[in-house]
Amino acid sequence: MPKLKNLSPLKKWFKDGFNEPLIIAGPCSAESEPQLMLTAKKIAELGKVKIFRSGIWKPRTRPGNFEGVGSEGLEWLSQVKKETGLYTAIEVANPEHVELAIKYGIDVLWVGARTTSNPFSVQKLADCLKGFTGPLLVKNPINPDINLWIGALERFYKAGINKIATVHRGFYPFEATTLRNIPKWELPIELKSQCRNLPIICDPSHISGNREFIYEVAQKALDLNMDGLMIETHYHPTVALSDMNQQLTPKELEELLENLVLRRASTRNSDFTTNLETLRDQIDSIDQQMLELLSQRMNVVEEIGRYKSENEVKILQLRRWEKIISTRVKLGKTLGLSEDFVKKLLQLVHKESIQKQTEVMNKIVLAEKKKS
Ligand code: PEP
Ligand code: MN
Repeated sequence: MPKLKNLSPLKKWFKDGFNEPLIIAGPCSAESEPQLMLTAKKIAELGKVKIFRSGIWKPRTRPGNFEGVGSEGLEWLSQVKKETGLYTAIEVANPEHVELAIKYGIDVLWVGARTTSNPFSVQKLADCLKGFTGPLLVKNPINPDINLWIGALERFYKAGINKIATVHRGFYPFEATTLRNIPKWELPIELKSQCRNLPIICDPSHISGNREFIYEVAQKALDLNMDGLMIETHYHPTVALSDMNQQLTPKELEELLENLVLRRASTRNSDFTTNLETLRDQIDSIDQQMLELLSQRMNVVEEIGRYKSENEVKILQLRRWEKIISTRVKLGKTLGLSEDFVKKLLQLVHKESIQKQTEVMNKIVLAEKKKS
């Protein structure tokens, strides 16, 4: 169990307060002083953004791409802070970055996804962050491993940092996908249920990879109870030196923030509560029936396992499996269930069936061995 018990609540992070959700915006990378200042001023004018983000050192997957302006950008950020009043945030990946960020008065530090994926790097950062009082944002690791994610948070927490939030930026997709990174929403949900007081900020820009999907992802994040959004914004995205397809203009950011629907976590309205309870009763009863049916199905599977064993027939019957998939997908469609959902569900059931049949067959073999 994670021991992130005494985290400072997000609401208390800034003496001058902020309106929830916490909005962080700014370019993927700092490119020049005018680019930074122009973008920051336009963002500040919206009056809705608390923190100005900007990458100074850029972790690029392959060398040769723009790798950031380096420490020169820290001066520009000090200027941004002075002229706009926005809090500033940069990514840090090693002790030298941390030292410089602190020297230049950067308010918020974030740890990138590639760094979070490596416990050695995380520990090095945690060691040099001892005594750092400002907020620290920890992005999820590239791979969807919740323990690696929690482990990184614990290392920073153990170093005495208590203003910690995590940033959900999605996970590396192994297959071609519409979104740049797979959100795997079940992971931040699981994290929230394990670490109730951990603020989670969604980064719809890196999840989407394309400005077209940012609104949809951001709205979903808010509906799933996330505490804030980090949105890459550039005064002129088409000339951006990194992540040009996913950056919004300040005007687009304004529209996005205006269009997001801020739904309540719950309501005291008694009609709503009664109706919701009735619907939930139905769900409870359907779940019970579903589990009873699955249990019956597994009993039949065990019988099949015994029967195949007696007749020395292999477990996997490929033709039968293909027929199951195609007929169930067809049936699912007529019932309004998507192909993807039906396939995934059946794959899970089939995996368990194979496991059950294997157990049955092994038991029979063992019993026979004992007899002889
Ligand atoms: C970034 O925020 O620009 C960045 C590099 O993100 P990530 O670490 O999520 O890839
Ligand atoms: Mn980026």
